[in-house]
Parts: sequence; C-alpha cells; structure tokens
Amino acid sequence: MYALALALIAVVLAAVAPRIMARLKVFRRSPRAALVAWQAVSLAAVLSALAVAPAAIPFLTRTHTIACASEECPSAVAAWRTQWWAVLVVAAVVTFAVLLPLLVSGHRIGTRLRAARTRHTELVDVLGDPREEDGTQLRVLAHATPTAYCLPGRRSRVVLTEGALTALPTGELSAVLAHERAHLRGRHDLLLEYFTVLHHSVPGPVRSPEALREVRLLIEALADRAASRASGPVETARALLTLAHGQTPVAGLGAGGQGATAARMRLLADRPLPAPVVALMYLYAAAVVALPLTLLWLAWR
Ligand SMILES: [Zn+2]
Repeated sequence: MYALALALIAVVLAAVAPRIMARLKVFRRSPRAALVAWQAVSLAAVLSALAVAPAAIPFLTRTHTIACASEECPSAVAAWRTQWWAVLVVAAVVTFAVLLPLLVSGHRIGTRLRAARTRHTELVDVLGDPREEDGTQLRVLAHATPTAYCLPGRRSRVVLTEGALTALPTGELSAVLAHERAHLRGRHDLLLEYFTVLHHSVPGPVRSPEALREVRLLIEALADRAASRASGPVETARALLTLAHGQTPVAGLGAGGQGATAARMRLLADRPLPAPVVALMYLYAAAVVALPLTLLWLAWR
C-alpha cells in the first residue's frame, strides 16, 4: 500500500537520514550541493507525510469496486465502509499532524524573527555610524570586541564594530565584507529560517539537532567560499580567528563566532569535491524529491 510506504519514508527522511547525513562530513567540501541535498531531504519528508492521505483514497476506492463485484455485496460494502473510515482517519491524522505544526511553527518563528530584525535594524540605525568600506554601506557600532554581522531583509544592513575595523587589515576586512554580502545576496536567512521552522515542527523524538547545526555550518561555509574568492583563504581564515569571540544577534547572520571557527577554517583548507561526486549529490537530491511524488502518482495510476 502506497500510503503506508509514504508514511514510512516520511519517518526515515525526518528521523534517520538527517542523522546519517550530518555524519558525512566530506560533503561539507561542497557546501552548495550539500545544502541542496539537505533541502531535498527535508522537502521530501514533508511531501511524503502530506501525501499519505491522498495516496490512501485510490486504494480504498479500488477495494470498494472489488467488494461490489463479489456476490455478497451488502456485507462486503459494510466491511469496506469500516475499513474506509479507519484508514482514511489514520491517513488524515498523519497528514494534519505534519501540516498543522508546520504552519504554526512557520508563523511563530517568522513573525518573531522579522520583529527582532526590525527592532535591531532600527537600533543600529540610531546607534551606528554610517560608513562605506570596499563598496559596502556599513553601520559601525562603538564597541571594542571585533564583531561583524548582517541583518537581512528589505532594509538589509552590514554591521561592524569599531573593534573589527581596528583589528582587521584591508585584505581581511574585504573577506569579511564579501562574506556578509554573500549572506545577503543568497538570502541565507530564508534558508536558515526554513530549516529552523522544520526543526521546530517535528516531534521531539524525531527532531535532529545535529541537522540544524550542520545546515548552519554549511551556510557559513558557503559565505566563507565567497570571502575566500574575494581575498584568499589565508585572509579569510585570519579574519575568522579575529572575529571568533564576536556575538551575532538572533536576527542576524555573522561572519565569526557561533563556535564553529575551527571547522570552518579546516573547510577553507580543504579542496572542493570532484565534479562527479558533486553531480551525484545533486542526483541524490533530485531522486529523494522524486520518490514521494512517484509513489503518489503510482497510487493514483
Ligand atoms: Zn556568516
């Protein structure tokens, strides 16, 4: 039965696959492809769960047709009705158990994040000194701790402290600004928000904290690649060290801190994965998304 297969796939993709993928650290060497694979797995988990009820309907219709083709039609129809309700209720519960927390979590996290971002943007506009560095408009805060972060959105801002401007030589400053521009350009905030919503919408026992940690690291690694292209891996690594103790607000995405500096510096030194491996990662992503859609199509065929 396709509905059962879809329910099983949803659980495997939500609970098992993220734990395995988080351990495959080699994929960090191609952060873009790895992020696509992570998105594909999470999307396929949601699609599988949502498709459980729609996939159960054709099965029940077929059972009805077979029941009525038999000689004992009235009693067979009565038994079919009981089955129909039982299976449909279970399938609908599975579908709504996924959909409802997803919508609630999406609304709650999105609203909170955007409110925090608006408040923080207003704050840096009042407290920050507007300046331009390397073609980027900045807000500079009078604080000694070297910190750099961006506030994404329609009124996006790149925020640096006086401490960062003092501590970072020109090449390292360019790396930091390229990192922040990559976050803003790629709308990495939306990607992180998507995974945060998914993380909070799945039940506790199924939830995988290592998955969210891994996605955070991959997003930073992706922006570090942009910094490395702009200023080189050595300058980028030095800038990461300088900013290692800086704090990033909840509403922003930072260039340093967040406890992953060592892993990010190792990634800067690593060579990217060979093209065939990257191609296989994209293929894996496409196959994972195609799986629930194919099963749903087969159920209705
Ligand atoms: Zn960053």
